[in-house]
Amino acid sequence: MIDSTSLDPTALAQPADLPAVDRLLSEPAFALWVQQHGRQLITQQLRKLLQQLRAQALAGKLARSELNVVQLAARFEKQLQQYLQPQLRPMINLTGTVLHTNLGRALLPDEAVQAVLTALTTPANLEFDVRTGKRGDRDDLVEALICELTGAEAATVVNNNAAAVLLMLSTMAAEREVVVSRGELVEIGGAFRIPDIMQRAGARLIEVGTTNRTHAHDYEQAICEQTAMLMKVHCSNYAVVGFTKEVNLAELVQIGRRHGVPTTVDLGSGTLVDLSQWGLPKEPTVKETIAAGADVVTFSGDKLLGGPQAGLIVGRKDLIQSIKKNPLKRALRVGKLTLAALEPVLALYRSPEHLAQRLTTLRLLTRPAVQMQEQAKALQPLLQQALGSDYTVAAEPMLSQIGSGAMPIDVLPSYGLVVRYVGAGRAGGPIMRVEKWLRGQQRPVIGRIQHDTLFLDLRCLSAAEQAILQAQWSTALA
Ligand SMILES: *Cc1c(COP(=O)(O)O)cnc(C)c1O
Repeated sequence: MIDSTSLDPTALAQPADLPAVDRLLSEPAFALWVQQHGRQLITQQLRKLLQQLRAQALAGKLARSELNVVQLAARFEKQLQQYLQPQLRPMINLTGTVLHTNLGRALLPDEAVQAVLTALTTPANLEFDVRTGKRGDRDDLVEALICELTGAEAATVVNNNAAAVLLMLSTMAAEREVVVSRGELVEIGGAFRIPDIMQRAGARLIEVGTTNRTHAHDYEQAICEQTAMLMKVHCSNYAVVGFTKEVNLAELVQIGRRHGVPTTVDLGSGTLVDLSQWGLPKEPTVKETIAAGADVVTFSGDKLLGGPQAGLIVGRKDLIQSIKKNPLKRALRVGKLTLAALEPVLALYRSPEHLAQRLTTLRLLTRPAVQMQEQAKALQPLLQQALGSDYTVAAEPMLSQIGSGAMPIDVLPSYGLVVRYVGAGRAGGPIMRVEKWLRGQQRPVIGRIQHDTLFLDLRCLSAAEQAILQAQWSTALA
């Protein structure tokens, strides 16, 4: 340890000048950390710091003044905070994409949060039939409600929709053929491709039609004794436009029934209500899909449904029964936290009049642009001040997306902040610098860059997050 007052602050430190671990641990600041986190953790982190200091000293890059206890404690505290910081962190989603897969998709309503808290800390009837006192089935907790909302005869829940499709195919089509239109052989983000899942499920894919046009006779000609099902995949993240033809579901169901093969639908987002009543684009609902005669339908829990990550499989009772009996179901089943969150979210759909207020996802999707405009006006001067005169920050209208593959070509009128570079030289670098600065803040802020312009869409910004931004943007761009 070095007494800083007695030394030339520019003098270089030698490895021998480094304090001993025990000596440092007895300093009041370090003793406090030991009290909070235990001796083992603090000693280990302290050794790490001393190693860095030694390397710095050997390289002739450590001033003796850096070894005074106040500076060492400050440096140690920073390192400790970084080490202890959880890896999963809250972010502020200003991308304009409401259901952003990389940012965790749907945000859950309070009802779900409370139910998860209870399930985390209290025993519950996860697989216990309270009436009979016998072992129960975890699907029973939500099956009746899912059937009520979709008109299906039976339902089961797995880890996500990819798992739902895998389980459905593995149960109904192992070593047999699945007929799919070439226009529907989609890849969803995160390496989910229909042909690959099909192969992993042990099913043979029979592609029919072309990318843009598939006719009834294309399906008809492909059907043989090996056919396990006709399958439709919802074009979640792309659109085929122009000279196109697809066989609609009702028609496909007729073909299937004539040949005695079931028709299944991977609906992807799978909304439970007609979103056009809130001015949103119309998506086929699960109920409509069942009503059109689909034998099995799969869809996600955390896309438009607005619940936790899950995959829902609904449809004919006999088919759902065999899906539940597949040993893979055990491997793909959901945990109690998922079920705890899913039930209250589904229950909100019983009162559709209140859905746009109570279901977070729908509330965000239907937020009037004037609300975002007010937030933009309040935040604009702060960000302008923080970025300085090389940039302009403007409150402007913009378009948000639903996201997660739901309705890729539809956009929602929104409002936000637009950052442009007006200093000397090219805009690319300076705009990236702002993006990095925002991403590096205590609560990272994620926007969207387009044509060297940074867009911060405020659709998903809550009042609490706005307060955080106000605090974060009170210091200038570093
Ligand atoms: C999103 C999607 C999937 C994958 O669902 P996850 O819940 O992300 O596993 C599968 N198929 C379609 C059509 C989708 O849109």
